[in-house]
Amino acid sequence: AERFAGRHITVAGLGVSGLSAARALAGLGARVTVVDGGDSDTHRHKAAALDAEGLTGVTVRLGDAVTLPEGTDLVVTSPGWPPTAPLFAAAADAGVDVVGDVEIAWLLRGPGAAPWLAVTGTNGKTTTTRMLAAILRAAGLRTAEVGNIGTPIVDVVLGQGHDDATTYDVLAVELSSYQLHWAPSVRAHSATVLNLAPDHLDWHGSMAAYAEDKGRVYHGNQVACVYNTADPATEDLVRAADVEEGCRAIGFTLGAPGPSQLGVVDGLLVDRAFVADRQQRAQELAQVSDVEPPAPHNIANALAAAALARAFGVPASAVRDGLRAFRPDPHRIEHVADVDGVVYIDDSKATNTHAAEASLAAYAPVVWIAGGLAKGADFGELVATAAKRLRGVVLLGADRALIREALRRHAPEVPVVDVERTDTGAMSEVVRAAQGLARPGDTVLLAPACASMDMYTNYNMRGDAFAEAVRELGPGGA
Ligand code: ADP
Repeated sequence: AERFAGRHITVAGLGVSGLSAARALAGLGARVTVVDGGDSDTHRHKAAALDAEGLTGVTVRLGDAVTLPEGTDLVVTSPGWPPTAPLFAAAADAGVDVVGDVEIAWLLRGPGAAPWLAVTGTNGKTTTTRMLAAILRAAGLRTAEVGNIGTPIVDVVLGQGHDDATTYDVLAVELSSYQLHWAPSVRAHSATVLNLAPDHLDWHGSMAAYAEDKGRVYHGNQVACVYNTADPATEDLVRAADVEEGCRAIGFTLGAPGPSQLGVVDGLLVDRAFVADRQQRAQELAQVSDVEPPAPHNIANALAAAALARAFGVPASAVRDGLRAFRPDPHRIEHVADVDGVVYIDDSKATNTHAAEASLAAYAPVVWIAGGLAKGADFGELVATAAKRLRGVVLLGADRALIREALRRHAPEVPVVDVERTDTGAMSEVVRAAQGLARPGDTVLLAPACASMDMYTNYNMRGDAFAEAVRELGPGGA
């Protein structure tokens, strides 16, 4: 903490994590300038609110996100800022380090602070982190889910906004590739990269750079690097990592586990990695049906969470109790209603092709609702893989033509309804079209494979619109 006193720190961005970093650093005696390129009423409002807190040493500069404030000796980024932001180039020119809020949190941990169990990957981070926290709690450990979710990590590490008596035994830390990019010294107790598929390449510049940032989560691990046997790229990252002596590579698989792996045997999640006997006989952890929803990708998430918890010494019974206590967040394969024998599922959080592929794999026959902002994705493989399961497809949103074209090439026999309108009534038309395509026993699945911002504020709003439109279909209900 002394290392920040008296220093001039520039915080990029007037968002939640920027504000939390600014408060924390000012509290440690740093001089903080928060810079933000925006200069709208909202920005001025936030700046005024910060000012009203009466913190010493904090100033806000609006309308300029380019020039480095005079005398800056450290820049703290916010998650939304791309590595190519001019402010960071200016920092590099001036020989000034750039770090993220996670790095600050790591540096501010006191002696004896709670170790971190870290989760990253293209998809499943939040789900796995929450499963992990549920398992740790079931083991009687004091924990919090932090990082890319929940309370800003700096606040948790400093005990702000908490009962001061609260100390944690261990933290379940979700880390995005952005956060890892700017967190060079984090050393987790154990960590996992759940999977690796193209996403956010506009931010990282290339798949190699994205993978490298994800792989940082393994660097310096003390006990276990947990990888996905179905995704060899994750194992490559373990091999490339510089870990502490004695740290083990632990795999998870949906099949029967080999030595040093967790897997599935006869409807049971089993552990052959953290077992006492020499034969490494598989130890039963939980039933597959304890995992909600029991879709394959989600069982993989549960195995990854179990592996991290077991690496921390949690007993098998706590894995079972934690998984039973876990409830998925909304809009992640959420069951909305059954209407006339058709099941309606909201997976609005499937904002990329990798996520949509995982949820489509869990249903057949399925009427698939897709479209939105494609973020440069290619839909060919997704459509080819899903083709046989598709009863029909309803397309919406800005980039629906890209999906329509992929369907024409890889699934020409599947009926497609194209909904052109983008007004607030559009989702009703989408859902009625899906109802028209579905037969009793089918599933209607909103898994757009695209971001939502062309039509909605975020994926939550898109999922809410879907649920509302399903309710409008009338009785048949829940
Ligand atoms: P993240 O925090 O990485 O965005 P979430 O747990 O919020 O992940 O899930 C995001 C989306 O990815 C959801 O649509 C979910 O159905 C899907 N998903 C979850 N886990 C996996 C996985 N292991 N592989 C592929 N897709 C997944």
